[in-house]
Amino acid sequence: MRRLRNAKIVATLGPASTDLAMIERLFDAGADVFRLNFSHGTHADHQQRLQSIRAIEQARGRPIGVLLDLQGPKLRIGTFADGPVKVAAQAAFRLDLDASVPGSVERVSLPHPEIFAALKPGAELLVDDGRVRLRVERCGPEYAETTVINGGTLSDRKGVNVPGVVVPLSAMTEKDRRDLDFGLSLGVDWIALSFVQRAEDIEEIRQIVDGRAGIIAKLEKPAAIQSLEAIVAASDAVMVARGDLGVEMPAEQVPSLQKRIVRACRKAGKPVIVATQMLESMVSAPVPTRAEASDVATAIYDGADAVMLSAESASGSYPVEAVKMMDSIITRTEADPHYHEAIQASHSEPRAEAADAIGYAVRHVANLLRVPAAVTYTSSGYSALRMARERPEVPILGMTPRVATARRLALAWGVHAVLCHEVVDVLEMTDLASRTVLKEQFGVAGQQIVISAGLPFTVAGTTNLLRIAQVQ
Ligand code: PGA
Ligand code: MN
Repeated sequence: MRRLRNAKIVATLGPASTDLAMIERLFDAGADVFRLNFSHGTHADHQQRLQSIRAIEQARGRPIGVLLDLQGPKLRIGTFADGPVKVAAQAAFRLDLDASVPGSVERVSLPHPEIFAALKPGAELLVDDGRVRLRVERCGPEYAETTVINGGTLSDRKGVNVPGVVVPLSAMTEKDRRDLDFGLSLGVDWIALSFVQRAEDIEEIRQIVDGRAGIIAKLEKPAAIQSLEAIVAASDAVMVARGDLGVEMPAEQVPSLQKRIVRACRKAGKPVIVATQMLESMVSAPVPTRAEASDVATAIYDGADAVMLSAESASGSYPVEAVKMMDSIITRTEADPHYHEAIQASHSEPRAEAADAIGYAVRHVANLLRVPAAVTYTSSGYSALRMARERPEVPILGMTPRVATARRLALAWGVHAVLCHEVVDVLEMTDLASRTVLKEQFGVAGQQIVISAGLPFTVAGTTNLLRIAQVQ
């Protein structure tokens, strides 16, 4: 079974996609990676979904990526005494540490001392995805007196964003640490860290993960944009988390930031996911708006590795339709004769190192000889990612003896990962590549293919071989 597109689809699982039959339908419709969102649901829910994914993987014989998304230090207000309150523009509103007194129309608790320590008069607090906007007038270590700028409704435990302030919070809460341990014990492939502010946040989690999963930085804070290159360098992949990013920064800045992040990731050869509200109206309708279709296509023309569905597949009424629609938009966009032109226009020079030289050569060989596939032997996945970085015009068959690598590569642009045994010599390498091209239906006997690998075969990180062979 193969996908006829380069860009991948990440589908978030939730109440609308819990049972095996539904997850299987999402996979068949085109989901390559499933996201377990630990902001919601119990450990038992996530464990059950993961077991279903692994069963589907077995049944379909294709590696599937699983992405654990940690909630991160999301700030929340406390609760209200008599349900939601309406605050009016110009009114005074107080936030403080006193969680023992339920909130009212005049005040509510904000149980985060770090925030009060970092706030200054003039700073803005955005509540409930920016629907309610508060400006700090006076503040101290335990309180902030604010003026309501945009009025609206406040209710229990709504999220708070403080865009202008670097919050002195650890990137991981106690809950995140428990979730992370649990996810690693289940064997997830990718861990996404929310509200990353600095490269050190990634280094901190890397100590714990210790190679057991790839680490994704979710870019959703202005501070992260200021350290973009360092964060990309420290991470294994990146998510353009437009939901919170669009709250923390003006909406009109999101499109150019998205392009800037995608460009930085492509330059570094790190997979990049464009996420949030891509087909938002499909939460409650079987078809997207034209603007949403265009939004998905834009990410594809920019060369993003993956596009993501959130509520559309997790809690919407049309999860399967949303995945199918995303699959069709990607396929259609990639069939545009100007698609590869657009991708190459935003391509940056490879590094002066063997893996990049091979990737660069493979792209040109593949074009010149019109081969149907580029086969690459990869152990850690590194050489497959460097190959994907070149964005060749033919699919990449990533052959790996490591199931963890095959699953992680489910996120990477253009890579069709295949689990194989360890090959020992060039003859076996060529023979296995040829048989796999046939078996996976990438080509037919008599066609030429291009193969890359590293000699000696059993040592990782040695990419140094390019071979042209005939499929037989
Ligand atoms: P979330 O992250 O769905 O976990 O909030 C994505 C985003 O903020 O866009
Ligand atoms: Mn977010």
